[in-house]
Amino acid sequence: MGSSVGDKTDLLFVKNFIGGEFVDCDSQLDSFDPSTGQAWAKIPNSGHREVENAVTAATQAFESWSNTTAQQRSKLLFRIADLLESRLEEFAELESRDQGKPIWLAKAVDIPRAVHNFRFFASYILHDMNRSRIQEERGAVQYTIKEPIGVAGLISPWNLPLYLLTFKLAPALAAGNTVVAKPSELTSVTAFKLCEIMQEAGVPAGVVNMVFGLGGTAGHSLVSHPKVPLISFTGGTVTAERIRKAATVSCKKFSLELGGKNAAVVFEDADLDKCIPDCIKSSFMNQGEICLCTSRIFVHKDIYPTFLQRFVEEMKKLKVGDPREDVFMGALISKDHLSKVVGAIHAAKNSGGTIHTQQGELSKELPVRCKEGYFVRPTVISDVADSSAAMQEEIFGPVTCVVPFDTEEEVISRANGVRYGLCATVWTRDVSRAHRVSKHMKVGTVWVNCWLVRDLNMPFGGVKESGIGRESGHDSLDFFTQEKTVCVLV
Ligand code: NAD
Repeated sequence: MGSSVGDKTDLLFVKNFIGGEFVDCDSQLDSFDPSTGQAWAKIPNSGHREVENAVTAATQAFESWSNTTAQQRSKLLFRIADLLESRLEEFAELESRDQGKPIWLAKAVDIPRAVHNFRFFASYILHDMNRSRIQEERGAVQYTIKEPIGVAGLISPWNLPLYLLTFKLAPALAAGNTVVAKPSELTSVTAFKLCEIMQEAGVPAGVVNMVFGLGGTAGHSLVSHPKVPLISFTGGTVTAERIRKAATVSCKKFSLELGGKNAAVVFEDADLDKCIPDCIKSSFMNQGEICLCTSRIFVHKDIYPTFLQRFVEEMKKLKVGDPREDVFMGALISKDHLSKVVGAIHAAKNSGGTIHTQQGELSKELPVRCKEGYFVRPTVISDVADSSAAMQEEIFGPVTCVVPFDTEEEVISRANGVRYGLCATVWTRDVSRAHRVSKHMKVGTVWVNCWLVRDLNMPFGGVKESGIGRESGHDSLDFFTQEKTVCVLV
């Protein structure tokens, strides 16, 4: 079966993982290496039958798994984390090849965070407390029992494949649910490899099932399945709407982590030596393919020319190229996505925007093996109206708009003037202003003088069209359990 990551000729064959076994699928899809544009893996094109089998396996495993103790589940999750960590290099290389991101980034962020997700929830369930109350006037003791719900349907995107999948998988398992997961069809490989770890760690058959394939078929079957009572979805806002429509019949529980059009607000007293490098990262890291990436930078008019000049200078230093090399940015996820990103830049230009990017033909700088890859240079757009597509629509690539503002009141209103509400960053040395502006931002997370500083104890999620629900130690366990109240008259 399959090839190693370094192998250029053999295709890697991904299989579904159902009932503890790797299972073939009659139909398959090509999966492309974004840095070469060549198919490098075959993934199952699963349909209703495969999902049905996976849901059946997960349903059968639920009775026994849901009756394990938190200590047993914790031990298993720690074992998964250790095994994953022992294969960090291999997983980082696979993630980079499948997704297009630089290997160093997968090594520094994606895989360590996936390991942390398992360790965090392995530990969290050991310390989780139930609610209780002594009701003196009735002489009653009341307490709650948190119960797992059943088969959890997990649907994840392609931008941080293993990182985001495990942020669902770890709490779902920790809480005692069984799982059917459907990773993005564009990035299935590390999820597939994780199933080897599930086997090795001794996860009982049927507790974790992985079904690969397209959203409209495998994904649709999963979210609309009557025996899947909860759906945790991370992806686009339009897909979320489809999923909600497909699933309304059976009153499912939903967690929806969706798109963003995140603002950075840079006041005149900001420490630009810290702010500029951080805004560079927040705009362009992972090729700008992070839901939390900044795509609108509002800069106070007094420092706007200086900021723009320094920001563009820094951006031009970023190396784009072969993800195996020492580059800041690798390739975009797909040919279609590349066209979408380039199209958005052209549209901004056609509507009067000024485009700042490096000069020179990118393809001439790429190594031979990357000539057909999906690469684009980081780009800054200035002179754009707030109402323009560049300022309103999620591009989900290395493109950010930089615009001036005058007053605090004005910038709050403009930063909030989009349909999304995932996160914002505020740059100021004025503590009162930091709190005041943070309070008025209509988003799920505000970072002040930093970006992407995450603590899994703190709630994460969006408002408006960026989602419903929160993920964190407390919130994820809350989502993956239901509380029963027991009242004992003493
Ligand atoms: P997408 O919505 O196209 O796909 C996400 C997943 O949904 C994939 O596994 C896909 O196969 C599946 N899917 C598609 N149609 C489906 C259907 N009808 N029924 C069931 N499943 C279906 O998103 P994407 O392009 O993979 O990811 C990019 C988007 O994800 C961006 O909008 C980004 O902002 C968002 N995102 C949000 C967060 C967050 O935490 N808020 C994190 C990462 C990405």
